[in-house]
Amino acid sequence: MLDSKVELVVASGKGGVGKSTVTSSLAIVAAEHGYKMVAADADAEAPNLHIVLGVASWDREEPYYEGRVAYILEDKCTNCGVCAEVCPLGAVEEKGGKYWINPFICEGCITCSINCPEHAIRYKHRVQAGWIRLREKTKYGFPLVSGEITPGRPNSGKLVTEVKNYASKVLGGEGLLLVDAAAGIGCQVISSLTGAHLAVLVTEPTPAGFSDLQRIHRLTKHFMIAPMLVINKYDINEEFIETIEEYARAENIPIVGRIPYDPAVPKSMAKGVPVMEAYPSSPASKALKEVSEKIAGEILPKWREFRSKYKPRKPEPYIPLILHDTSRG
Ligand code: SF4
Ligand code: SF4
Repeated sequence: MLDSKVELVVASGKGGVGKSTVTSSLAIVAAEHGYKMVAADADAEAPNLHIVLGVASWDREEPYYEGRVAYILEDKCTNCGVCAEVCPLGAVEEKGGKYWINPFICEGCITCSINCPEHAIRYKHRVQAGWIRLREKTKYGFPLVSGEITPGRPNSGKLVTEVKNYASKVLGGEGLLLVDAAAGIGCQVISSLTGAHLAVLVTEPTPAGFSDLQRIHRLTKHFMIAPMLVINKYDINEEFIETIEEYARAENIPIVGRIPYDPAVPKSMAKGVPVMEAYPSSPASKALKEVSEKIAGEILPKWREFRSKYKPRKPEPYIPLILHDTSRG
């Protein structure tokens, strides 16, 4: 059905706007349409797509290893404190005049070891920092890949990249890779958006929802991804809808769905069953079905056409924080 791999990311700048509900509904409808597909949960800090899809066990679990974590050789260290001064993450701590490196904060950037006058810093390699899990076939017929970072470990963005690579291997060549991104605009989301073709941006009509929509949209512009917009709980603040619609018009973002607030959604989540299955005739289920049909039935079959129509004309420039922060010397 798709003659190449198409990466579609469901993202929202804000948490709690219904991103996983939209992803699960779209996944179920896309599978009904017969797409060869894999769903990937790319929220490694709080994975929950498997819960929404009723997956209680995994067919495969593979450890995820990080590059390296620094530690100090006590017999060489003179406790000069240079490493604590230079560590950009504050991973070097001092206790009773002695220095040590907190492995839960260290990201192995080597700044400390190149500055240590005593060459007293070494690295542990391949530290396990999480899991990548696979359910070969959910009850809806498609595989699910999910990543989970160990609490306190950094580099969740790198784990998301590994999750996507793993999911791509499971997909094997052409087909739909449907990625459920984390909320926000941090490194996990950047990893989710890297290389994606299309993005479903989910928002709600509140000032916070709108502000976060603009932030995530800037990221999709940076990555030259064609966006589409779903307004969830559109009826909780109808006066605000015009603000969002005006933004969408000005920014050339098609609105592909409006989903009403519906208590059936939290009730279905409590049951661990997708709302379209638990309460198929509820207003939210009908709207989710409609938007998913639109994406799976109309947009995906002509995704190249859609992409060339809505892809940003030029990428949003990326300004590294270090250049942007004028307070630095
Ligand atoms: S810079 Fe080197 S010598 Fe100084 S406290 Fe750190 S590890 Fe010890
Ligand atoms: S490797 Fe980097 S993050 Fe880790 S302690 Fe050294 S300076 Fe800090």
